[in-house]
Amino acid sequence: MNREGKVIYSRRLPKFKYYSPSSIDEVCSLLSEHKGEAKVKAGGTDLLPMMKARTVVPHHIIGLKNTGYMDYITYDETRGLRVGAMVTHQAIADSPLVKEKFEVLATACRKVGTPQIRNLGTIGGNLCNAAPSADSAPALICLSAKVKLVSLDGERSIFIEDFFKGPGETALSPSELLIEIQVTDPLLHSGAVYLKHTFRSAIDLAAVGVAVMIILDSTNEVCKDVRIALGAVAPTPIRARRAEDFLRGKALKDNLIEQASQIAAEEARPITDVRSSAEYRKEMVRVLTRRAGKQAWEKAKTA
Ligand SMILES: Cc1cc2nc3c(=O)[nH]c(=O)nc-3n(C[C@H](O)[C@H](O)[C@H](O)COP(=O)(O)OP(=O)(O)OC[C@H]3O[C@@H](n4cnc5c(N)ncnc54)[C@H](O)[C@@H]3O)c2cc1C
Repeated sequence: MNREGKVIYSRRLPKFKYYSPSSIDEVCSLLSEHKGEAKVKAGGTDLLPMMKARTVVPHHIIGLKNTGYMDYITYDETRGLRVGAMVTHQAIADSPLVKEKFEVLATACRKVGTPQIRNLGTIGGNLCNAAPSADSAPALICLSAKVKLVSLDGERSIFIEDFFKGPGETALSPSELLIEIQVTDPLLHSGAVYLKHTFRSAIDLAAVGVAVMIILDSTNEVCKDVRIALGAVAPTPIRARRAEDFLRGKALKDNLIEQASQIAAEEARPITDVRSSAEYRKEMVRVLTRRAGKQAWEKAKTA
């Protein structure tokens, strides 16, 4: 059943032609040749169920596994973190480097699905599928991440916030491929936290996901900058900008974080669906923003 309460039947996969290119150039050529009729397949954990439900019926599937290029996590102080689009959630969650320097991203990836899903599902697929509930999105928005997109016409990097256009819609053109996620070095005196609320305790998509990053000034008291990202409460992951503006420049106190959480709840735009009312989701935004804000503040004080 989908969010509108409509029953979805899972059928056999429809017919398609499969390609297994061995380079990014070849992928781009195939995408350009079959514009609009082709889909790339990373782990397939979103694509194959959607094909079985006939939500998408691509005539050409381009497997990315054999390109052998987009499966890396690298870091240096100048360029920051680079994560290839084909890196799985499990690999990110387990990466000592990500855990040490970008813990909020490791946490978000650890909260995805089950071990099977985390070992197949990739970060690139999570972003390109553009579900409002995608767990990696709020964490990456907080980290001001960029995504690198390539096509036969060249490459471009855009902020992750500008990447999401609507449920299932992104800034990718039909002939573009997302190849890398880029995150600059974490700032001094900063702390970030991602919290996810689900309706079921086992596997479930986020009913509400909240990531908060707080950056303190050199006195360790004033909020120099803050980013609050909300998932699953609007057509795309969003920033709670009014809540951020409320905190920025102020000496932090518990009650200020509580007031900012209330503002964030007002900024959320959830809809009532079969699983919950919009009011419930707004209330959970308030609760999670308060919790994540306080935890991020504690982390920033000791960073
Ligand atoms: C049981 C189950 C539980 C799940 N739980 C969660 C959860 O808790 N949290 C969560 O966020 N998600 C969850 N998901 C969704 C899914 O597993 C993730 O979104 C996953 O990261 C998708 O990655 P993938 O590699 O499988 O993508 P695919 O299914 O291969 O691709 C998804 C879409 O992105 C496109 N795409 C993939 N890679 C690229 C690329 N590099 N460039 C351009 N387009 C690309 C594909 O064409 C397709 O349209 C769950 C799914 C299932 C089946």
